[in-house]
Amino acid sequence: MKFAFPPMPIPSVSIAGTDERFPIRRIFCCGRNYAEHAREFGRDPNVSPPFFFTKPADAIVEDGESVAYPSLTENFHFEGELVVALGKSGADLGEDEVLDCVYGYAVGNDLTRRDIQMAAIKVGMPWDWGKAFDRSAVCGPIHKVEDVGHVLNARLKLFVNGEVRQDTDVADMVWSVPKILSLLSQAVRFEPGDLVYTGTPAGVGALVPGDVCVVSIEGLGEISTTITEREVRRDVAA
Ligand code: MN
Repeated sequence: MKFAFPPMPIPSVSIAGTDERFPIRRIFCCGRNYAEHAREFGRDPNVSPPFFFTKPADAIVEDGESVAYPSLTENFHFEGELVVALGKSGADLGEDEVLDCVYGYAVGNDLTRRDIQMAAIKVGMPWDWGKAFDRSAVCGPIHKVEDVGHVLNARLKLFVNGEVRQDTDVADMVWSVPKILSLLSQAVRFEPGDLVYTGTPAGVGALVPGDVCVVSIEGLGEISTTITEREVRRDVAA
């Protein structure tokens, strides 16, 4: 096969304790999965079932990288989250079966253009420009299940410039990891390389250039992202 121009490199993240990389296929994100976060947006966490949105695989940002303040927004938010990395294919699986498909877990930050997202919600338009933009999916090293077990109870904290802004236990999710993965497997056949962001707890807030945002999850370490000034983006690449 001859491509008209070089295809994109396969997006990937590091795997803790190895020199291998985890190749990313798709990024699924679960919305509104902690009761207090649902309430801070005026939603009843007990009514709506979990729902998903997606980000492009090449939106991935690794630990220690900086992210330029994105275009179109004046209200750029952090969302600390547990990320599930899938290592097997699965369709229509039950909650008692899906954990066998999990390759590992990571610390994530679902970066969000909140003003764009809220404007979309208001008029019933898609969330894409609020969520699925360039460099919007921060993900730390994947920790294999064989090393860390299944992460069903663990403290999740997010700090901005050293000040704690989110602090919860992942056990407080409305919809557990097995439930989320079971539902996902009904909507699509999930595949090795898929990442699932499991939702953020209460306390989301804005980031500005110069901020350092750190997310930690017990057993999975911490990830750090520095926000830099908005870039002049007008160009035509060669
Ligand atoms: Mn999120």
